[in-house]
Amino acid sequence: MDDNHIVERVLFSAEEIQKRVRELGAAISADYREAGTKNERTRPLLVVGLLKGALPFMADLIRAIQVPMEYDFIAVSSYENGTVPGEVRVLKDLERAVAGRNLLVVEDIVDTGHTLRHITRRLQARDPASIKVCTLLDKPHRREVEVEVDYVGFKLEDPWFVVGYGLDFGELYRNLPYIGALRSECIERCER
Ligand code: 5GP
Repeated sequence: MDDNHIVERVLFSAEEIQKRVRELGAAISADYREAGTKNERTRPLLVVGLLKGALPFMADLIRAIQVPMEYDFIAVSSYENGTVPGEVRVLKDLERAVAGRNLLVVEDIVDTGHTLRHITRRLQARDPASIKVCTLLDKPHRREVEVEVDYVGFKLEDPWFVVGYGLDFGELYRNLPYIGALRSECIERCER
């Protein structure tokens, strides 16, 4: 795979990502351990991954979480072959009932916030005990709707479109072990 021609620069190396994931896992474990002791009857945490982008992050994160947990997935439509936000469509729903459960939604990146708002509203309607959100990346300056994010891996202050570690460009580059900024020439070419 030749990623040199599309990646302008590496923003977060594989090592930096793994270190941050361990920190997030420790923080999440501490918070839910605390919540668990307050209510002994709480059922195990349900970690809800948003496919496809969150898959590598989720796979690493769950192994850094040290409280009893289950996981499930929701698949949502992503941007179609480009970098412009489209409408949110649910392609695959949860298999587990969520009423009364503590949910941790795991996202790859929160950009405009539309995806997350849509998903959290949908889950909220099923009466969970709580919903928290963990995102690998956050682009706060791009927000169009207000959403609450509890755990953030890295904030992106620059207007990068990023690829790697689950994040795609036209479905490619999800398998890069690092997170890189897409070359701007590449965005222009593909939006034409
Ligand atoms: P939002 O609904 O918050 O605008 O967008 C969330 C989704 O947009 C993410 O789950 C991701 O699929 C996509 N997205 C937003 N920014 C980027 C980016 O910089 N790179 C990639 N590959 N996807 C992005």
